[in-house]
Amino acid sequence: MSNPYPLGLRLAGRRVVVVGGGAVATRRVPALLDAGADVLLVSPELTPALRAHVDAGRLRWEARRFAPADLDGAWLVQAAIDDPVAAEAVSAAAAERRIFCVRADDRVAASAWTPAVTRHGPVTVAVLGGGDPRRAMSVRDAIRALLSARKGTLLTDSVEEGPAVDTPGRGEPAVDRAPGRVALVGAGPGDPELITVKGWRLLTEADVVVADRLVPGLLLDELRAGVELVDASKIPYGPFRAQEEINRILVDRALAGAFVVRLKGGDPYVFGRGGEELLACAAAGVPVTVVPGVTSAIAVPAAAGIPVTHRAVAHEFTVVSGHVAPDSPASLVRWEALAGLRGTLVILMGLKNLAAITATLLTHGRPAETPAAVVQEGTTGGQRVLRSTLGAVAADAVAEGIRPPAVVVVGDVVGVLDG
Ligand code: SAH
Repeated sequence: MSNPYPLGLRLAGRRVVVVGGGAVATRRVPALLDAGADVLLVSPELTPALRAHVDAGRLRWEARRFAPADLDGAWLVQAAIDDPVAAEAVSAAAAERRIFCVRADDRVAASAWTPAVTRHGPVTVAVLGGGDPRRAMSVRDAIRALLSARKGTLLTDSVEEGPAVDTPGRGEPAVDRAPGRVALVGAGPGDPELITVKGWRLLTEADVVVADRLVPGLLLDELRAGVELVDASKIPYGPFRAQEEINRILVDRALAGAFVVRLKGGDPYVFGRGGEELLACAAAGVPVTVVPGVTSAIAVPAAAGIPVTHRAVAHEFTVVSGHVAPDSPASLVRWEALAGLRGTLVILMGLKNLAAITATLLTHGRPAETPAAVVQEGTTGGQRVLRSTLGAVAADAVAEGIRPPAVVVVGDVVGVLDG
């Protein structure tokens, strides 16, 4: 058998016919849709996942068996069926029309093979295993591991022209460089593995990283050499000036041509001032990408065994900041309204004002025996969980020496998973 000839097919807007509606088609269709293909699915039956694509209008479905005329106007066909007679009919109709045909049932009879693939941002690695899909997958897995571990050097430095930037300082002329940009990236709640795949990729590509206090230190440990790391928590100004100073660093570095990652704990927009940073960049004409993060509001309770909703227990959860005292004129929270809710209340930044907050909730009718918990440093090795009730939790947290960062959870979901 002669060697296959590798190609990257650009399928946007081009008709691809998938024959079959089972497991193979379910696995193949997402990549075709991702490539922008105009997918026609021909099959009497569909898996629920394929039906979801149909219902969402992402592809066209003919609910019947294959007919040769289905291939008219197609560029590629996937015979995702295991009946060799039916697959042969697809192959024959494809050959007649000079269309390549991938076959799930018989790779020797197929005129094209699907490679094992790993994608890393703009880079796609496709592996053919000489007709052995298991070999292709194991080689692909090895490459994927290599790329994940050494992404910074393999993917970034190799595609960038010129030397790596050691000091992309202010005022540096943006010669020979793409114009700068900023990514607001959620780092997740504490466990370094809880950053998103996209967030991690951008982090490994950054010239400058501006990190918050709550960002997992281990993430910063793995940055490539030469990255300028700005510790936003050490900026020596008052809180208001500090934010302006951060905005200024983001804008200045980006205008000098750097790719700046603003790494923020949890999700960038959940009590994270990400919106202000986005507006500052936009005002300076700096393009911004936002990468959402796993927020502590949901992940920290989960790490302590507390689901924020549970069937027949809580049909809502409310996330609220406790950093302003309930009786302060600056408070934007209607605590008395929250006291009337039956669902889960998740309070961030609430330790300092916890006594006043719980007193307000009790005064306005939330029962004192409502279960409550405080989770300190959730998802990290230092995680501590205090279980109590709404009536007692403020005193218990003081007695136990609970310190920030901590999330307070109030509601019947606390303890619902305890055996
Ligand atoms: N943007 C962040 C929240 C920033 S506000 C997010 O989406 O998670 C900071 C507050 O988040 C802390 O005061 C604390 O209430 C909570 N928090 C963040 N990380 C935490 C962690 N690992 N454990 C407990 N609480 C945490």
